[in-house]
Amino acid sequence: MRYLILSDIHSNLEAYESCLEAARGLYDQMLCLGDLVGYGPDPNRIVEAVCGAASTVIRGNHDKACSGITDAEDFNPLARMATRWTTEQLTPENLARLRKLQEGPVTVDGFELVHGSPRDEDEYIVESFDAMPAFDEASSSVVFFGHTHIQGGFLAAENGSLEPIFAESSEDGCVSTLALEGRYRYLINPGSVGQPRDRDWRAAFAILDSGKRQVKYYRVGYELPTTQEKMQKAGLPEPLIIRLQFGR
Ligand code: ZN
Repeated sequence: MRYLILSDIHSNLEAYESCLEAARGLYDQMLCLGDLVGYGPDPNRIVEAVCGAASTVIRGNHDKACSGITDAEDFNPLARMATRWTTEQLTPENLARLRKLQEGPVTVDGFELVHGSPRDEDEYIVESFDAMPAFDEASSSVVFFGHTHIQGGFLAAENGSLEPIFAESSEDGCVSTLALEGRYRYLINPGSVGQPRDRDWRAAFAILDSGKRQVKYYRVGYELPTTQEKMQKAGLPEPLIIRLQFGR
C-alpha cells in the first residue's frame, strides 16, 4: 500500500492542491497527521477536502484550539488571533468534524501516526534530545509525526545512537528517498504542507510505500501570492503572511 502523508496543512488550499497534484497516481490512501486549520485563509475548504479524502486524520493542537476543545492560552498572540479568526469562519459542520478527529497515536498498517510525539500529542520533537524519549514511548519501529513543520526526522540504531534525517533539495518533486531497514527505528516528519519552518517555503509531504518499506520526501512550489492575498483580505496578521515566503 502506498500512503500519501500530509501534516500541518494550516488552511493553505493552494499548498494542499499543489501537493495532491504532485502526488497524483503515486498513492492509494491519504493520511493526515493533524493541524488542518490555523494560520491560513481557507479553513472550511481544507476541513471538507481532507476529511473527505483521507482515510485517517488525527487531530493537532490547532484543530483542538480552533474547535474549542482547548483554549488558545498557550499560543503566541499571532497564533491566537488566527485561531479566533478561524473559529469564526468555520461552519458548524466543520467545527463538529474537527471536534471528532481522533487523538494520536493511531496505528495504520503497523506504522504509528502522531501529531507531536507518541507520549504526548502536543509535544515537539525538534532535537535528538526530544527524540530519545519519543523512541522509548513508541509502539512501532516507524512513527510518523508532525507539529514542528520541519521535514526529516530521526533514526535510532540498535545501540541507541541517534541521527537526524535530512531531506534537502532545490528541485521540485522527490527530494530524497529513505529505505526503512529492520535494524533501525524511525521518527519521520513529512514536513508541513501549509506553513513550512525549515527555511524552504515550498509545501512538504511524504509518500510511504509499505510493501517496498520506503519513504519518499517531496517538496513542491505553489501559488504563494494567492494565499498571501487571501490572508491580507481576511485581515490575518501581517507576520503570518510574510513568514510563508521565508519558510519559517
Ligand atoms: Zn502545525
